[in-house]
Amino acid sequence: MNFKESTLMLVREAEEALRERFETLDAISYEGTRRVMEAFSNHRVSDAMFAGTTGYGYNDKGRDTLDLIFAEVFECEAAIVRHSIVNGTQALAIGLYGLLRPGDVMLSVTGKPYDTLEEVIGIAGESGNGSLADFGITYREIAFDGEFDYPAIEEALKDSKVKMVYIQRSKGYLDRPTLSSETIGELTRFVKARSKAYVYVDNCYGEFCSAHEPTYYGVDLMAGSLIKNAGGGMAQSGGYLAGTKEAVELASYRLTTVGVGGEVGATFGQNRDLFKGFFYAPHTTSQALKTAALAAYLFEKAGFEVEPGYDDDRFDIIQQVKCQKPELLCAFCRGIQKGSPVDSFATPEPWAMPGYADPVIMAAGAFVQGASIELSADGPLRPPYTAYFQGGLTYESGKIGIMSAYEAVMEELNK
Ligand SMILES: *Cc1c(COP(=O)(O)O)cnc(C)c1O
Repeated sequence: MNFKESTLMLVREAEEALRERFETLDAISYEGTRRVMEAFSNHRVSDAMFAGTTGYGYNDKGRDTLDLIFAEVFECEAAIVRHSIVNGTQALAIGLYGLLRPGDVMLSVTGKPYDTLEEVIGIAGESGNGSLADFGITYREIAFDGEFDYPAIEEALKDSKVKMVYIQRSKGYLDRPTLSSETIGELTRFVKARSKAYVYVDNCYGEFCSAHEPTYYGVDLMAGSLIKNAGGGMAQSGGYLAGTKEAVELASYRLTTVGVGGEVGATFGQNRDLFKGFFYAPHTTSQALKTAALAAYLFEKAGFEVEPGYDDDRFDIIQQVKCQKPELLCAFCRGIQKGSPVDSFATPEPWAMPGYADPVIMAAGAFVQGASIELSADGPLRPPYTAYFQGGLTYESGKIGIMSAYEAVMEELNK
């Protein structure tokens, strides 16, 4: 991997321009790491906790301690952290089914939720498959254009059947801003002053991007994936839920079963990677944020529209680059793939993914399948041909991936 002198010069210029931004990210990473280490110390983490359990998994000291550590670091009462939660979607679904009952209304205040949740809620897919709709739970949605529609939310909350206010923090794959924890806190206070509804946050991609998580600002429950930020690039799979004791307990009854909750569940030796991943998580997240800021600078200088801008505050690890042409989006993804540690020889091609209206192109060369804390990119082939990318286990490797993408796009542009 040899890069052009002009690319290296632009990167040096970018790093100069980003110096203060990087210092801020280092400070957030330091504070996160300090809090994680303090929690490890308070809970007397020791080697014995890394041993696996089998069968019921009773008295799994590692599992129980990790739950307490997540709760302490996320500044809330309780958490459940499991390698056996298959992805972020399942973690989120556990919270939905845990808190909602027949006759309840789920109110999304950030527009349409993440694609994979549509079938869970029952606004897509067949009926009779066990979606929330099948269980008599009604879904309502308030449009979101970057700001909460407070008058509409106030009106909706007049219906006492609204049992949950649902917030997706990250833009995901939508063209909308990501929410800060503080903004979610303001909305939470507004809801709590008017209603008994739970506030539930999809926190995927948000962990450790800033000093505090939404739980610090009083949300009842949040959920996320361990192959994103909170697993630090070490977790081989898993998810978590964190929040109030009541909400986490109700979720735990859905995770296992009523009356059993979070007190069982064998860990088969996965604890070490989950502990180690959480230890790394603030740092790994900062590496992904630096990689994203570098990319924003490079592509902005090359005349592309990017979101967020290189010097903007970031509340998740996602970076958008609007490529404007299908060939450029494909070149971007090819460059990311080529600059990956695994499967660098592969060439991504657009394909008709089930459930998507337009062909999608994806680049990922990760140690853990689908891990998006590792450098990865995807984009639907429709205007403005936006590449959504995220990750980078280390800034150095992320930088190599970004330089590779940059040169691939420049080459395509100059054809
Ligand atoms: C990743 C993600 C999810 C869950 O996706 P999985 O692929 O199931 O882990 C949900 N919401 C958002 C905003 C996400 O980024």
